[in-house]
Amino acid sequence: MQDTSKHYINGEWVTSIDGREMAVENPSTEENIATITLGGVTDADAAVAAAKIAFPAWAATDPQDRIAALERLMEVYKTRAEEMALAISHEMGAPIALAKTAQVGAGAGHLKNTIRSAKAFAFEHPLGDHAPDDVILYEPVGVCALITPWNWPMNQVMLKVAPALAAGCTVILKPSELSPLSAISLAEMIDEAGFPSGVFNLVNGDGTGVGAHLTANRDVDMVSFTGSTRAGVAISKAAADTVKRVSLELGGKGANIIFGDADEKAVTRGVRHCFNNSGQSCNAPTRMLVERAIYAQAVETALAVADKTDVGPADIEGRQIGPVVSGTQWKKIQDLIKLGIDEGATLVAGGLGRPDGLNRGHFVRPTIFADVTPDMTIWKEEVFGPVLCITPFDTEEEAIALANDTPYGLTNYVQTSDKTRARKVARQLRSGMVEMNGKFGGAGSPFGGMRQSGNGREGGVWGLEEFLEVKAVSDWG
Ligand code: NAD
Repeated sequence: MQDTSKHYINGEWVTSIDGREMAVENPSTEENIATITLGGVTDADAAVAAAKIAFPAWAATDPQDRIAALERLMEVYKTRAEEMALAISHEMGAPIALAKTAQVGAGAGHLKNTIRSAKAFAFEHPLGDHAPDDVILYEPVGVCALITPWNWPMNQVMLKVAPALAAGCTVILKPSELSPLSAISLAEMIDEAGFPSGVFNLVNGDGTGVGAHLTANRDVDMVSFTGSTRAGVAISKAAADTVKRVSLELGGKGANIIFGDADEKAVTRGVRHCFNNSGQSCNAPTRMLVERAIYAQAVETALAVADKTDVGPADIEGRQIGPVVSGTQWKKIQDLIKLGIDEGATLVAGGLGRPDGLNRGHFVRPTIFADVTPDMTIWKEEVFGPVLCITPFDTEEEAIALANDTPYGLTNYVQTSDKTRARKVARQLRSGMVEMNGKFGGAGSPFGGMRQSGNGREGGVWGLEEFLEVKAVSDWG
């Protein structure tokens, strides 16, 4: 791989002008595996200047040419998939099997769906039969800062980079400082695919440095951000002075409503989904709401699933869950588990400390709390670790009220064999997505939330529209 201390600006790997070094840690071993440079203001400005110069020519290209460039990127991405999987697994601890399949696959899937959506998209169309001389033009927003988290690194990076480039925007990617290696790998692939200089730029950095500077920079027209609600608020405020477009994909506290008539695998599926990627998914179903008639059985099943969940280093082939990303994150999760115990939830499985047999690495015990009530901290706060809360309910109305009892609104889940009830409940859940009976949303389905989960929609045609301005022109015909 490329010298990881450099940024990719204007088509070249360049040495940082005013940055400082940071070690990248492998969370399975706690060993340093690379050094990056956290860029400074001058580095960020250089990337913005390159993107600004490149914008007019890239914006004026035929969409078909931009699609062709993305298709070349797709070919390179496929041939370098193994390298990408290793980068992700080393930097954020995804077990290698998960990294090769879901983590790398998500990036490929979003690239493919963006290409498909862009091919079908009418970048220019008449207003309608009633006004045949009026045309609607979809034009790129401009220079975009793309700021991403570490938990599904290529998923989130590709959900932004691919549609922004397809739309005709030029970009500065600032990946999470905890997962820079996969982004460096992608920058190499973009270079290999032959995009014009300045169209894609990568500056490594932290949130308060490069992140905050990009957000406030006058020449940045849009910030597309995925990460915590805390940072989303800071970014919205900092972007307000220059009236940037701000697209936010933030945290979640998903409810999984399991009715008594749910299929027999519903509880097992829900626990596994919560623990997937070591619980580090914004859309994880972390609050399991169970109809009282099957509550005791559900708690027993959840315990059995937790007991069978292996935890171990990311480089071992298998279905284990890996570590969480950092010592800071590990400590935050431990504090929340302790609060769960102190505030009176019933600890059914897991708990404090590392799993037996693991004496280094940021490993968390798969943890289940039952009898969790809405006043408890673990009900309210996103834990971002393998920690599940279970709560009983008596009526459909109570289940809906409990599910909506959160400032978040990303994904909720419904398990019932009664279709009429499923649809009725789905309509009343305040979230951008509702997943029913274990069926994932289709390819190109919009991903995003309501309320404090953010205002953006990524994926498919919705993801493309995020990066487009709508221009109305009269007397065109
Ligand atoms: P984070 O907010 O700490 O960091 C995310 C990114 O923002 C990083 O690149 C970071 O450097 C940058 N950043 C931090 N503060 C900033 C600031 N003030 N200005 C500009 N940039 C700033 O989040 P994280 O810990 O990396 O990721 C976990 C969070 O992301 C969780 O809350 C999770 O739910 C959320 N998330 C949401 C989605 C979604 O699509 N809704 C997807 C994945 C993760």
